[in-house]
Amino acid sequence: MFPPFGYYLLQERFCNMPELPEVETIRGQLDEALAGREVTEVEVLRSKSFSGDPRVLEGKRVKEIKRKAKVIEVYFEGAKEMVIVHLKMTGQLIFVDGEKRIVGGHPTADRIRELPSKHTRVVWNFKDRSKLFFNDMRVFGWMRVVDTDKYQKDAKNMIPDVTDSHFTPVYLFDLLKRSKAVKLVLLDQDKLGGLGNIYVNDALFLAGISPDRKADSINKTEAIKLHSAIVQVIKLGIKYGGASASNYVQVSGLGGTYQDHFLVYKKEGQKCSRCGGIIKKIKLGGRGTFYCPGCQK
Ligand SMILES: [Zn+2]
Repeated sequence: MFPPFGYYLLQERFCNMPELPEVETIRGQLDEALAGREVTEVEVLRSKSFSGDPRVLEGKRVKEIKRKAKVIEVYFEGAKEMVIVHLKMTGQLIFVDGEKRIVGGHPTADRIRELPSKHTRVVWNFKDRSKLFFNDMRVFGWMRVVDTDKYQKDAKNMIPDVTDSHFTPVYLFDLLKRSKAVKLVLLDQDKLGGLGNIYVNDALFLAGISPDRKADSINKTEAIKLHSAIVQVIKLGIKYGGASASNYVQVSGLGGTYQDHFLVYKKEGQKCSRCGGIIKKIKLGGRGTFYCPGCQK
């Protein structure tokens, strides 16, 4: 069921935050695994990783797991409270049910080792003896008990993420009315949620727009094209279960395969699939930026 141990060590790096497709993949698999299970006790091993009263979850049955941008939302049947989770850079969720183990998040040896490990911060115990472990090496991630009504009210005012219906070509065009490089505008998580380095590079390639072009030089027609390119790459990312080139690997223990479908990301020196030009790598805002000077203007 699990790939060789070395596989995890190879993946042990901190180069990418999880991107939205990776979080969506984890969400879907946790939804399937946890729905209907009743919590008996939540043990908090590191207080920084958990806020709220864990006791309010006792006796509650998981209803469903949703997502807003990169926040994983756990809803319970008939409960006033819910739990929200952010994995940040090194968070892992590992669900263990007898012999079965399903894993999401940062890939380390903890995935196959005895649990809890020294990185385990929170443990959910379910009535049927299955357990959910929240591990987080660098302790940037968090689990929070929040009031469901209040959270949903706040969530309405949150900036849209690229899978929201509020993310429209008009919203994008407005967002681009800034003089910064287009790539940096798209990565600004305060304006648009869920778009990270891998998918931004590929979306700009699809749209034929150079990453260092000033955002406010992009006209309406180009903005429409860019919007559809963003939607398309995120859909592809979700379809392939995310990219295991990042820290994130699917719950089932194996990585996503979006990396087999990268358009320009990490392809410097290779031929462009569209014009045959050579893909270039530059730094923009400190991040690796990949594009084809031949067909991205
Ligand atoms: Zn090209």
